[in-house]
Amino acid sequence: MTRVVVVGAGLAGGTVVGRLRALGHAGPIALVGAEAHLPYERPALSKGYLTGATTLDRLLVHPQQTYDDLGVELRLGSPATGLDVERRVVQLGADELPYDVLVVATGSTNVRPPIPGMDLTGVHQLRTAEDADRLREHAANATTAVVVGTGFIGCEVSATLRSLGLEVTAVDALPGPIWAVLGEPLSGRVRGWHEAHGVRVLGGAGVAALEGGGWVEQVRLVDGTVLPVDLVVVGVGARPELGWLEAAPLERASGGLLVDAGGRTSAQGVFAAGDLAAVDGVRAEHYSAALAQADRVAHAVLGLPVPAIEPTWFWSDQYEHTLQYAGRHGPEDQLVERAEPYTGFFLREGALTAVVTVDNGRDLRRGMKLLGRAVDPALLADPARDLRTVA
Ligand SMILES: Cc1cc2nc3c(=O)[nH]c(=O)nc-3n(C[C@H](O)[C@H](O)[C@H](O)COP(=O)(O)OP(=O)(O)OC[C@H]3O[C@@H](n4cnc5c(N)ncnc54)[C@H](O)[C@@H]3O)c2cc1C
Repeated sequence: MTRVVVVGAGLAGGTVVGRLRALGHAGPIALVGAEAHLPYERPALSKGYLTGATTLDRLLVHPQQTYDDLGVELRLGSPATGLDVERRVVQLGADELPYDVLVVATGSTNVRPPIPGMDLTGVHQLRTAEDADRLREHAANATTAVVVGTGFIGCEVSATLRSLGLEVTAVDALPGPIWAVLGEPLSGRVRGWHEAHGVRVLGGAGVAALEGGGWVEQVRLVDGTVLPVDLVVVGVGARPELGWLEAAPLERASGGLLVDAGGRTSAQGVFAAGDLAAVDGVRAEHYSAALAQADRVAHAVLGLPVPAIEPTWFWSDQYEHTLQYAGRHGPEDQLVERAEPYTGFFLREGALTAVVTVDNGRDLRRGMKLLGRAVDPALLADPARDLRTVA
């Protein structure tokens, strides 16, 4: 019987084992995870889990009972250290785990910028439940925080720390929040949310050093400004977790593993899903993409027709606002906006490439149906116009 080994017990890994059984795989399945926890969902780590409103058991992809019922062998707290695609074995330190089919789902790791002082106590990065626990405990005894990086996670952490009562300064070398993904004018809107809640937002502010004697005490900006702090959170991006695959001959793309729609890598019997999978060369570090890819991989592993690739979407909760984005736009795409509630449409040669909404899930869903289609910008800009009738 085909033995499936899934490496990476996170969202994609936890999902794929459930989908394999649901689709009829009867052979052995092993799920290998570096963390000691059952697979859990990370989005709450920067939001409700960080405040303490949500507990880890509520974030599990499946409860323990499900893995027992499905007969999935769990190898948790046991990071994979290497892969031999010729012999079809995964190395777990001194142990070897043979597979017929391997699913690689080791997600992302945080970028650690080469800023002096990153090793000081009180400097946090956020990826795991333990990272969030440490940050929550530290925040309970802190007054001032600097968040370095105002991408989605930096913005969410800023909002959460502020809601916990800290004085927060959010700094970024780019001109404003989420600039790299959405640019103006969305960046200005997000900045407005933070400033309305009392967060100081410094754009164009590179960090020269984190300074202190053991504990971090201040952040020195490139322009010489010094910000006194009790804690620092650095959230400047992530990259695929491929360290254990360094020697494996798997074709790469966009910094991850190149896969087709069914998650097949360049090596026979090896599939990939989640943050590290570059589907037809394109990676998406989002919750919905990991779920969809896990499902497609399960189909492909079992030789079933692979479901079509749907546009990916993501959300970000900050204060009372939910920002949602679907599709993929380029820097040259035309932005057409309607208000209120806010919806932005990105167009290339007249066709919709992406849609972004604020507190407007309905138009996000309707806009997703228009992706790839030619649409009249005047109709998109008209807030009275039902999106179901513009194309
Ligand atoms: C703080 C935070 C907030 C987020 N918020 C949102 C959000 O609001 N909306 C959204 O769409 N997305 C959000 N995301 C992104 C989303 O969580 C990821 O896209 C999703 O988890 C990807 O799933 P994955 O299975 O690829 O990776 P993960 O869920 O990260 O799982 C990868 C697993 O592999 C394990 N692993 C790593 N190396 C090894 C190894 N060598 N051996 C064995 N196991 C290994 C890791 O420990 C981890 O458990 C957020 C991410 C973070 C960190």
